[in-house]
Amino acid sequence: MLDVLIRGGRVIDGTGSPEFPAAVAISDGQIVEVGSLRGAEARRVIEATGKIVCPGFVDPHSHSDWSLLVNPQAESTIRQGVTTEVVGNCGWSYAPVSEHSAAFMTARMRTFAYDGPLEWATFGEHLSWLGDRGHSANLAWFVGHNCVRAAAGASGANATEEQLRAMERHVREAMDAGALGMSTGLEFNPGRDATTAELVRLNKVVGEYDGYYTSHIRNRDQHLQESVDEFFAIVRAGGTRGELSHLNVRHNTGAAEGAWQRAVETMERARSDGFDVLADTTPFRDGVGQMAAILPPWLLADGPEIAAKRLRDPATREILREECDRYWRFIHNGEWERVRLQGSPLYPDFAGKNFREIASLWGQDPWSCYFDILADAGPALESVLTIGLLFTDEHLREMISHPLFSLGVDTFSSHVDGPLAEVTRHPLSYAGTTHYLTHHVRELGTLRLEEAIRKMTSMPAGHFGLRDRGLLRVGSAADVVVFDYEGLEETSTLERPLAYAKGVEYVLVNGVVVVDGGKHTGARPGRHLARAT
Ligand SMILES: [Zn+2]
Repeated sequence: MLDVLIRGGRVIDGTGSPEFPAAVAISDGQIVEVGSLRGAEARRVIEATGKIVCPGFVDPHSHSDWSLLVNPQAESTIRQGVTTEVVGNCGWSYAPVSEHSAAFMTARMRTFAYDGPLEWATFGEHLSWLGDRGHSANLAWFVGHNCVRAAAGASGANATEEQLRAMERHVREAMDAGALGMSTGLEFNPGRDATTAELVRLNKVVGEYDGYYTSHIRNRDQHLQESVDEFFAIVRAGGTRGELSHLNVRHNTGAAEGAWQRAVETMERARSDGFDVLADTTPFRDGVGQMAAILPPWLLADGPEIAAKRLRDPATREILREECDRYWRFIHNGEWERVRLQGSPLYPDFAGKNFREIASLWGQDPWSCYFDILADAGPALESVLTIGLLFTDEHLREMISHPLFSLGVDTFSSHVDGPLAEVTRHPLSYAGTTHYLTHHVRELGTLRLEEAIRKMTSMPAGHFGLRDRGLLRVGSAADVVVFDYEGLEETSTLERPLAYAKGVEYVLVNGVVVVDGGKHTGARPGRHLARAT
């Protein structure tokens, strides 16, 4: 007898091929048959008449590792059908940790509502710790360069030979533990201080394992092309595969006309030279960002607590108003309506509001509000998140429809009724995946449904070597989603963000039903998907 039989549905198999009517049979966590299956018997039968049945979605660029400690059930993302999240992106992970970085890392975890102990040091220990507690979605991991650098005690541009060796050891340990590779976040402290030579050296370790280099590159406005060139120099020298994280340009921040197209052509040329590199995009005009990333390096040079003290000084604030012209440069340009506070535990009333609104509620000018919120975060100052109005509809369309871009979300899973809800006041966390299907496919017709699903399943799974994932066919792991395409609804809005998306009725992870009739069953069948060797 079968474990699960899903019958009557319209199968979209993840290859991009047109849908076809079929039943799907599951046993021992695997798909064992796709076909008419007349007369088959199963312990559990799911009636999917009129519904789409497809492989579980694979988010190629997630930060759900930030919220995993308090949200192991991946409440908001599993309800959208996301069964695998590629995490550890943009240079951030919660491991490795050393005595140099324990305080920094603890402050970071507190921002994401985790108040338990830090009981791991190495990357492998972190994965086992998480594995022991269990999680609902599958996770594939990058080790974050910012955390590697912090654990090695490096700050500033010139890491010592001893620190470089420590970084190499941390990367090697993560690769041995099954990491896909290393991620960098070169607009953020401390990663932005790293030289190309440092990154080449670390990526050579990744290359020994035939791993991946994924990067939130150094700049995406005036210096986009140099940053893309640096990415490829690092990939070439390391002999790795690669992923250009959220390869986009922010609206009206100084990117030259045609700069994005030239960056994409650079990727196309590298591919024709034999490099296995792809890019990903995000779903909304809004995107998530780090509040502290506009601050100049000198302010952060002596650690977050000293930076927070410096931020209290009126004379320093005057200088900063001039010197914060980086990262989200529209802030420096005074476009305060484009930047919202994602959330700060100290300022729940301001969560989700833009800095014009915050300024008027607070009765101060926007810069003062910005600096006060950062300073009040103290040791956690580098963990406070913002949401920016970053892209035009036209730019989103060209990325989403581009054949070399898979569809990611670039935020973390959240929940509507736990501690994370205080700091996650934006639809990104609640409806990012659904937004591709409702807005870009159903409303705008940017992609055919089957093609969108391919870019959300087999394309990222194939690129990252996640064997047995991303395709609905015999022999694949039984990560399966059943959803009502016409009934998909984002629900979460800027005004009322705390609401789960609707329309996904069943989600199976490794053959176990995690979402049953739209409700989370509490099951935690997720696995760590180690790099294929
Ligand atoms: Zn990023």
